[in-house]
Amino acid sequence: MKPLVAIVGRPNVGKSTLFNRLIGRRLALVEDMPGVTRDRHYADAEWGGRSFTFIDTGGFVPGEKDSLLKQVREQAQLAVEECDVIVFVTDGREGVTAADESVASYLRKSGKPVIVAANKLDNTTGTMQALAADFYKLGLGEVHPMSAEHNLGVNGLFDEVVEKL
Ligand code: GDP
Ligand code: MG
Repeated sequence: MKPLVAIVGRPNVGKSTLFNRLIGRRLALVEDMPGVTRDRHYADAEWGGRSFTFIDTGGFVPGEKDSLLKQVREQAQLAVEECDVIVFVTDGREGVTAADESVASYLRKSGKPVIVAANKLDNTTGTMQALAADFYKLGLGEVHPMSAEHNLGVNGLFDEVVEKL
């Protein structure tokens, strides 16, 4: 079985945009596996000569009784249980939120390799990139500034993923 890489993070931070970047670019076979877990998308992916299965965790369903925080945290728990590497996506413009901190504390305890991405940093100016610095306080090591939409910092992020496989 191929190594599993999961993308986690709260809704609307750009997880699916990042997923589609890799999938679109590498023409991976997108295999939806409904029933495995609600709203997760699995795809076979390849980067830097390594093959892995990439998982986009959807998770949050508005209006359900579970709080956003609980649902995002559950996603992270599943990712920790099944995956070899976790990409934790955050919104670099908004800075660290309570949900980010909750997920981060869980991920820290898990001991799994985690890559923190500060997304939506859409240009390479110093002021925008400086926003990423806030995420160091999550205590998960290096923070990768990126823009999934504008394809900035994405290649470097995937390089880091395969290094940790
Ligand atoms: P998800 O809920 O975490 O899967 O987030 P999505 O990938 O669905 O993206 C949520 C919204 O953020 C969409 O409107 C995206 O177009 C937007 N988005 C994603 N990545 C970026 C980015 O790098 N920069 C900006 N400005 N918007 C982004
Ligand atoms: Mg999504």
